[in-house]
Amino acid sequence: MELHVRALRTVLEQKGYIDPAALDVLIDTYETKVGPRNGARVVAKAWTDDAYRKWLFKDATAAISSLGYHGRQGEMIVALENTESIHNLVVCTLCSCYPWPVLGLPPTWYKSAPFRSRAVKDPRGVLADFGVQLPASVSIRVWDSTAEVRYLVIPKRPKGSERLTEEQLADLVTRDSMIGTGLAKIPTPSDSHHGP
Ligand code: FE
Repeated sequence: MELHVRALRTVLEQKGYIDPAALDVLIDTYETKVGPRNGARVVAKAWTDDAYRKWLFKDATAAISSLGYHGRQGEMIVALENTESIHNLVVCTLCSCYPWPVLGLPPTWYKSAPFRSRAVKDPRGVLADFGVQLPASVSIRVWDSTAEVRYLVIPKRPKGSERLTEEQLADLVTRDSMIGTGLAKIPTPSDSHHGP
């Protein structure tokens, strides 16, 4: 596959269809500048700002864009709320659709055939593989991404995080917790202290 991509890229460059420098900038942007930290800021803001939270669940694309996160594969984002009784899990059964502006590029496992098929058939088993055990009372909703709609899971705010700042809260929000294969991290007592 890698050889195929390289050969294709060479041909396209030689024929002048793509500008190698532009392609490098694009890849660098999504590898190093855009990443799950963007999504973590969205989640932290939703946890602390009720008006923002309501806006996010009404029109995630606009609410996310207001923080400066928009662009390719983020034209239509829907935010999914994890609650005491519902846990959301996102997959793209067809390929690897993913909300780039808030999460960056998808991890390899997200694109793998086993994840794509098992997430639908056995979501609880997939979560167990990721080390997530949910009580039986929590139902799991699986959302299939498409070229039109991308999803961002808003994980539950962890207990013990009441006194943290928005920036400290963002540190608790992992990439996997925004896909639904993980939970937000539990804060440690040192998280709420500001240095010496
Ligand atoms: Fe896809």
